[in-house]
Amino acid sequence: MEDERINIFVIKHKQALDNHLCPECGMIMQEAQRSDESGFVFVWWECPRDNCWGQWLEKKASVMSVA
Ligand SMILES: [Zn+2]
Repeated sequence: MEDERINIFVIKHKQALDNHLCPECGMIMQEAQRSDESGFVFVWWECPRDNCWGQWLEKKASVMSVA
């Protein structure tokens, strides 16, 4: 039962990240910084709301290379 609750939380959290919504308050996040390093793009997202500290670093492959 514990595992099921954790799974639901993880899925909800992942949906928030995919939609770029603040995990704290649900506001649409703003891209604050972006860097490209060795095949990965790092995007730093920040919540635009004044009293909210919601933020996260997103890492994704910049190019899908198939060998
Ligand atoms: Zn927020």
